[in-house]
Amino acid sequence: MFENLIAQPASNLLSEDLSSGRLPPSILFSGGVSSGKLTAALELARSLSCEEGNAAWSCGCPSCARHRELSHPDLLIMGSRDCALEIRAAAETLLRKDSAATRYLFLRSVRKLSLRFNPSVQDLSDSRFARAIPTLAELDERLEELSPSRPLPDDQAAARKLIDSVVDLASKLEDDFLYDSIPVQHVRAASSWSRLSPTGKMKTIIVENADRMQDSARNAFLKVLEEPPPSAVFILTTARRSAIMPTILSRVRTYAFVDRDAESQVEVITRVFRDLPKAGEGVSAYFQRFLPVSPEAITDAAKAFMSAVLVAAIDEGRKPVCALRDGIGPSDGNPSIAEILSGVNKCRPAIVYRLFIARLESLVRAALRNPQVDAREGEVYYRWTSLMRKAVESVDTYNLSPQSALESLFVSMKETL
Ligand SMILES: [Zn+2]
Repeated sequence: MFENLIAQPASNLLSEDLSSGRLPPSILFSGGVSSGKLTAALELARSLSCEEGNAAWSCGCPSCARHRELSHPDLLIMGSRDCALEIRAAAETLLRKDSAATRYLFLRSVRKLSLRFNPSVQDLSDSRFARAIPTLAELDERLEELSPSRPLPDDQAAARKLIDSVVDLASKLEDDFLYDSIPVQHVRAASSWSRLSPTGKMKTIIVENADRMQDSARNAFLKVLEEPPPSAVFILTTARRSAIMPTILSRVRTYAFVDRDAESQVEVITRVFRDLPKAGEGVSAYFQRFLPVSPEAITDAAKAFMSAVLVAAIDEGRKPVCALRDGIGPSDGNPSIAEILSGVNKCRPAIVYRLFIARLESLVRAALRNPQVDAREGEVYYRWTSLMRKAVESVDTYNLSPQSALESLFVSMKETL
């Protein structure tokens, strides 16, 4: 087990706890983005259900077969995740070479997303889910065509067309229908689901980015952890353990995931994605190759946003900030937020939004380093930085759209001046 988890010492601890029967019913995988937390959680789910008991990756038992293709009925994935870039990377891997391993890589990358739409936990009266159903159905149909038992179309163009259509459907699912923060109804439904008998040995509920929950969802979740069901294991993951409620932390055992060193990250890219990283390129940077917008376009949009804030503030007779204005250069017209967003693919997928805000923060940090900045201007920058963090939270935790979050950020930044 855990053969797929590269350079992550937590796997040794997990194997020991699993084989000695000491694995608690609720656990937390804590570690940075792209450190293998979901891979480990899926492997643990497979190991817990394996009918042979040893859960080698090649195990021939029917349970492991279903887990390998992420279609086991005892598996539930909840929470948000940036799926789009991994799906695009896996699509290119498959197009470079078709093999059972690259098919699984691609299928699993898509199902890591589509499993979050399990009807068992969705609120059937929720119009967002109702609108997602046709996309989910079409996606399932296309994935069927890509099953490892069926050949890819001989013609490279036809193969690309089929794979691209899956990538497009998955993007639509992630951009239009995936909640950034788990709604409380989903937590309640997952709780009921976890108390039903498993079809096999054990149910596994994976909750990604467990720090991104509103109070109501957190409290509902806490109740589940207080009385864990007998045949279910909860695996929470987070990149920000400090943002998880202490009452939840006290009910889970934490397994710490380390940031892999450069050599191990190269191994992930070459072994999993069968690609060659550029010098110094880690896993996150590798995934960013597959962004639909260039880093330069994100920088330009961030500068245009700052410039628009300053122009609007001056129009209202407010006092501008000098260091930032020098840092972003002359403004090019006075674009609206919608126009700025259209230059960065409307901040889709969601990772583009986070990169955009990170770029805004780095412009502010650069301005703060300017020796000309006086106390008033310094105060403005500190307040802006905190507004920017709130803008991320309003999307991640409160399910606001990037456009609404940026419109509100624009107004509050302007009013700070
Ligand atoms: Zn097995």
